[in-house]
Amino acid sequence: MLLAGDIGGTKTLLGLFNPDPARPDRITTRSFSTPDYADLASMIDEFAGDSTVDQASIDRACFGVAGPVIGDTAQLTNGAWKVDGRNIAARFGWARVDLLNDLQAMAYGVTVLGESEVRVLQAGDPARGGNVALIAAGTGLGEALLHEVDGRLIPSPSEGGRADFAARTEREIRLLRALVASHGRASVEHVLSGPGLVNIHRVMHAAPCAIVEGVDRPEDLPAAITSAALERRCPACAETLDLFVEAYGAESGNLALRSVSTGGLFVGGGIAPRILPALTDGRFIRAFRDKAPFEALLAAVPVKVILNSETGLLGAAVFAARR
Ligand SMILES: [Zn+2]
Repeated sequence: MLLAGDIGGTKTLLGLFNPDPARPDRITTRSFSTPDYADLASMIDEFAGDSTVDQASIDRACFGVAGPVIGDTAQLTNGAWKVDGRNIAARFGWARVDLLNDLQAMAYGVTVLGESEVRVLQAGDPARGGNVALIAAGTGLGEALLHEVDGRLIPSPSEGGRADFAARTEREIRLLRALVASHGRASVEHVLSGPGLVNIHRVMHAAPCAIVEGVDRPEDLPAAITSAALERRCPACAETLDLFVEAYGAESGNLALRSVSTGGLFVGGGIAPRILPALTDGRFIRAFRDKAPFEALLAAVPVKVILNSETGLLGAAVFAARR
């Protein structure tokens, strides 16, 4: 039996799996509020204390962590935790504990997703032996590549979300100027993330927005803006989402070009499933393909939105099962 985890600054998922290398079989999962626990060991204690979990049957573990992984340790970017794989292994008597970057874990999950777990934005014409790419906007922006090597897809992490935002339209140039003025530079994550939606909103709204004035907690702002946009309750909120979707498509196209991901591009993260009507109306794919003279190459790339919100957890389990 193996224990898998998807550790984020606000939420952590832990799950127990049977280690089938083809696709680990989920036995039980549980969601925890990360800041409520001093460290990972105390969270595992509580999870394993649950009567449905047979702690003695666990022999290995893998955790995807939302932060950089260096050797056997990982530091949460938006949280106090430092995870030490060796300490966890020693404390629980497990043969091995692996740590992955959260996007790298999600990339392992992508390799086993079924058709019912994705929504196709573009069917394309996948090339045999092509690379695959993953982009995921949520609290931040993650990007990962899956390199095809001798018939296997090998995920590799990146910090592409912190690369420069490439503005293409007058509207995006206006946003770029505002971001440079407020942040010193404009990274893609300043646009494509929950906080990014709030940044765009600030620039698109000439007049105060009634939607935003009614929201108390800053973390609730992105969802308030996207629902106002999807329900057409505020024209400037709608323009905010419009810019977000176009920029998301354009950056996905950039990622596909950089990785030559003729095997497919997956759109993960928490935002995409919430704005599906805006992603499926053609704007995303138009911006994705708008890379002359490479429109044909990009039109052939299958583009899919990940609907399974536990893909990162599943990926950590895939990694542990295949070790
Ligand atoms: Zn508004």
